[in-house]
Amino acid sequence: MSPSKKRDTAFQKCINPDCGAEFECALVTRGFKCPRCGELLDVCYEWDKVAVPRRLCDFGRRWASRDNPLDFSGVWRFRELLDFCEDRYKVTIGEGQTILQRNDAVAKYVGMRRGSVFLQYEGLNPSGSFKDNGMAAAFSHAKMVGARSSACASTGNTSASVAMYAHSCEIKCTVLIGSGRIAFGKLSQAMDYGARTIQIDGDFDECMRRVQEVCGKLGLYLLNSLNPFRLEGQKTTIFRIIEQMGWTVPEWVVVPGGNLGNSSAFAKAFYELKQLGLIDQIPRIAIINAAGADTLNELVNNRKLTWNEGRVDQAIIAEYYSELTARGFSPHTCASAIEISRPVNLKKCLRAIEVCNGVVLAVTDEEICDAKAVVGRYGLGCEPASAATVAGLKRLRSQGIVGSDERVACVLTGHPLKDPDLTVKYHKDRGGSFSNPPVEVANDVDQIIRLIQA
Ligand SMILES: [Zn+2]
Repeated sequence: MSPSKKRDTAFQKCINPDCGAEFECALVTRGFKCPRCGELLDVCYEWDKVAVPRRLCDFGRRWASRDNPLDFSGVWRFRELLDFCEDRYKVTIGEGQTILQRNDAVAKYVGMRRGSVFLQYEGLNPSGSFKDNGMAAAFSHAKMVGARSSACASTGNTSASVAMYAHSCEIKCTVLIGSGRIAFGKLSQAMDYGARTIQIDGDFDECMRRVQEVCGKLGLYLLNSLNPFRLEGQKTTIFRIIEQMGWTVPEWVVVPGGNLGNSSAFAKAFYELKQLGLIDQIPRIAIINAAGADTLNELVNNRKLTWNEGRVDQAIIAEYYSELTARGFSPHTCASAIEISRPVNLKKCLRAIEVCNGVVLAVTDEEICDAKAVVGRYGLGCEPASAATVAGLKRLRSQGIVGSDERVACVLTGHPLKDPDLTVKYHKDRGGSFSNPPVEVANDVDQIIRLIQA
């Protein structure tokens, strides 16, 4: 390994400013961490060597040539903005055909004016979640480096996406999931797409530790969001939001906070677009934890942890994590996709908060379930973690942090069918404000008619 080796358009760089080691993209470091200091890595670009269009709207021309699979892909359509591998390695299964929906009913629910709230449905991806954006990029990198076998830890959506991409490009895959911690829709996908699915007795954080160990020992390609190439793909959600807003940026982007890959990737996207002169203003970001898995909220709001120009106060993190260990804490929320207490992208997310003047808050499971029912009733539906965005926006409005006429894009990360059990329970138990239970009636036409006319 030679950190200062001459590189191509793109290279990897350690996020620690006191290290700043650089590596070529073809190098796969152990666990995608800096071999010098153990910190996270970024994918960086020599922008003067990349043919980036002068205006963002120029990307729109690719709709005319969508018979080319790379132009059809909602990730690779923007390929100059994630230019780390040659076209021959690029993997696509048609990801990123997602919709930004203006939703005035949701705007009313959260206390905003008509025309202010937009829902970005990432659940419309092939495997039903935003993960496909990242996997298109990560599997392209896996092919570029000649990976034969891959692995990930997962709360569910990652395993579904990894399994789908792995079989499409003939790379073996193993997924580690926590016992009893995965929504049924997601587990069914991993099995159906042929992943070797290993359930361990533990939560996501324990799966995450184990998968890094296993990848290190067996040389498997790691597909969790520690992998910086995955985050490059996740930047494209932002490009598509901008595209669907007529190539303008919203004032706010609201995103659920789990392992913090999306928030990190979104801020990187905005930062790079600003650097390239393609946008004038960087939007603010709001990251929403579930109250039962609120590490980011605790560290940022209560313990005042900041990016601090890359010199993050490690002692604050270590102290909090040792407190969690001492009380045997395991996160618990109905939003299983964000049931994570040791987010791997924590430091990149702190940087995102700095770049985007971000805010963090935590919402209860009750708020999440009600918001999910509202998105279902008035929109296209979403999985529980996604609805944390709408619940979070409602809080941000009540606290006056978001103005009633600011344009806000809530990123809905997963499809409603990912977790049908929770949906059925919410509606059948009649406990929620928006419960819509089925009505039981005798098999009799008059009684059925009476009910319909009631
Ligand atoms: Zn380093």
